[in-house]
This record gives sequence, C-alpha cells and structure tokens, in this order.
Amino acid sequence: MSAKDFINLEEQYGAHNYHPLDVVIERAEGVWVHDVEGKKYLDCLAAYSAVNQGHCHPRIINALKTQAEKVTLTSRAFRNDQLPFFYKELSELTGYPMSLPMNSGAEAVETALKAARKWGHKVKGVTENKAEIITCKNNFAGRTISIISFSTEEQYRDGFGPFTPGFKIVEYGNSQALEAAITENTVAFIVEPIQGEGGVVVPPAGYLKATYDICKKNNILFIADEIQSGLGRSGKLFAFMYEDIVPDAVIIGKALSGGCYPVSAVLSKKEVLGVFNPGDHGSTFGGNPLGAAIARESLKVLIEEKLIEKSFELGNFFRESLAAIPSKHVKEVRGKGMFIGVELKPEAKGARRFCEALKERGILCKETHENVIRFAPPLVIKKEEIDWALGHISEVLTTL
Ligand SMILES: *Cc1c(COP(=O)(O)O)cnc(C)c1O
Repeated sequence: MSAKDFINLEEQYGAHNYHPLDVVIERAEGVWVHDVEGKKYLDCLAAYSAVNQGHCHPRIINALKTQAEKVTLTSRAFRNDQLPFFYKELSELTGYPMSLPMNSGAEAVETALKAARKWGHKVKGVTENKAEIITCKNNFAGRTISIISFSTEEQYRDGFGPFTPGFKIVEYGNSQALEAAITENTVAFIVEPIQGEGGVVVPPAGYLKATYDICKKNNILFIADEIQSGLGRSGKLFAFMYEDIVPDAVIIGKALSGGCYPVSAVLSKKEVLGVFNPGDHGSTFGGNPLGAAIARESLKVLIEEKLIEKSFELGNFFRESLAAIPSKHVKEVRGKGMFIGVELKPEAKGARRFCEALKERGILCKETHENVIRFAPPLVIKKEEIDWALGHISEVLTTL
C-alpha cells in the first residue's frame, strides 16, 4: 500500500476533524519517525510535547509490557499496586502533597474546574452556582463543551453552543486586566505559563508573579495549565518555575506518559483537591495500573536522563540559532527551553507552506495559528541533530 492508499482510506471512513500533513508514520524511535514509504523524518512536534522522552523509549515500553502482562485495569472500585507509588513519586518530584489522575488533558482541566468551583463554594463561601473562573484570551485547554466555552478561537466554538456559563476571559500578559475582572464570586484564574497552541506565546517577565500575587490577595486559586509547557518542555520541570510562585494547582498530561498512553493529572495543595469526597468525581480508566506504571517510568526517565537540563541548554542553543537565520519572512523567534515558536510576517503567506517544504527535507513540524512554526522536538534530541535540522530550516527560511 502506498501512502496515498492509507490517506484515502482515512479520508473515506474517518471524521474530518484534522488536517494532517500527508506523512503516514509506521514506526518511530527517539526523535526519528519512519513512514510507510521508507522515508525518515526528524520529529519537531513530538506529538504536541507528549513524547518529550522520545518515541518508544525502551524503558517506558518495557514498563508498559511488564505491567500489561500483570494487570491493566481494576477500576477505582478496587485498589491496585501501582497507583500508590504513582501518587508518592509525583508528590516527591513536584512538591505537591496531593494529585488526582485522569486520562486526557481535557479531563484533567475539567477536574481542575470542578475542584475550583467546589472549593469556591465550600471553602471560600461563594454562593452556590455563582462561581466565576477567569481565563485568558488565546488559551487552549482542550475540546469539551465547558472548555470551549472559554475559548476565544471562533472555529472551536462554531456550532457547538449553548456554552457553559461562569467564565470570564481577560487579555493574556496583562495583570491589570485580571485584577479588573475579579468579583466576589471569582474562585480561580487558570493560565498557561506559556501558551502553546496560541503560538508559543511567552508572557512578559513578572506576569505570572503579578497575577499570582493578585490571586493570593483576593483569595482566588491560581491554576497553571502545564499540560504542554510542563515536564521539561520549557527547560524547567514546570514553566511557572521561571518565576517565584507555587500555583495552588497544576494540570499535567501529555508527556506524563512519554506518549505511550493517555495519562493526565491535577496536582494541588491539600485544600483544593481535598474538596472531593468519594463519588464526587471519577473516571473508569483514571489511575489504572497500566497508566500509572507507564507514568512512573516516564517521570524517572525525564529525571534520570537529565532531559530538563538538556531542554534548557540545547533549547536555548536551538532558539538562538533560529533567531540568527537571516530570513526576510521571520517576525520573531520566541520560547523557553525546547519550546520554540517562529512567527512569520503576514507577507510570508502562512506557516503551512514552510512546514510542507521542511517535510520534503525530512523535518516534521506543524504550523500553529496560521503564521507560527513550532519547534518542539523530543528532549532526547542531540546537538548534531539540531545542527542538521538548522541547515535545512535555514535554507527553507531563506530561499522559499
Ligand atoms: C493539549 C492541551 C490540553 C488538552 O489535552 P488533551 O489531552 O488533548 O485533551 C490542555 N491544555 C493545554 C495547554 C494543552 O496543550
């Protein structure tokens, strides 16, 4: 079968809710993926940062196989021997005393929204059904009805109303806008420390600290959505660590399983997740032993292979080298660690054609927000591989 045959099958039988690049991948290891026609590509998207540890990391695959042969799912009606260690290791790594495991990122965001509302009512004393949660313009937090209810992306909402009430949206990067939006009913502020889908947008220095202080002053939960920016992507364990804050809750997903299984979680101070009682919330697969075993090993790989430090050092090198490319198309190169966005000028006529050209040269990346190329390869990438990629990126950005 040729790539075209796979693509035709997919287009015929699948819902058309994505517009992928036409590369049909059949296997991958580390930073490299191989397509059905025998071509090999450097993966500069890393499944939206879910494979920070590299594709099919041998240790994570081994943990998957070993656990899969023992027990995969107990449901939370019973206990299993992996979840307690997952909780403990997550707590020791992050400093948060409590966590709640789910599967997709969106489910973890929903969990945080529920916890914030319940905390608002039961602890802060906000009148029932009046809780307000403040979010930012250009956010991305998933695709459920409640989450798209606070999206500012027209397409994400088009046709999907009626929406969930109780959200307010303020400008990202502007702490005064947050302060002005607060009322006595505000229970939480949810923010991405770096906006990923928004185009790798880094807020002004001091923004996280300023908004955190505003939240503390007003008895509002500060919740960091680190599903994409977290777990080493930004060059720190969490992107919020560039500023001196400790969010009340942190949402993680994606790289929590090294891309081997859907595992997400909310981490928090005791009083936030502490509002949940048996039966308040749950998920059939959440906290299952297979996911827990995979996540435990994924976290160990992240730390033991020093991937966070590598992300910081090589990411800064990659970003500075990209910024030095003399291209008439580039408006700005930004990011932190190995989380990099190259914004093109409007005259460049969109990032897609650059991604297509890079694909022809064996580099996979995906445009975000029409005119941003995101470079976020697995954190196991080597300096030589970045050098190789830079040669091609430079040629594409200066000749196209
Ligand atoms: C990807 C992402 C989500 C949603 O995760 P899913 O696993 O796709 O549901 C939420 N927040 C941020 C910041 C993300 O990047």
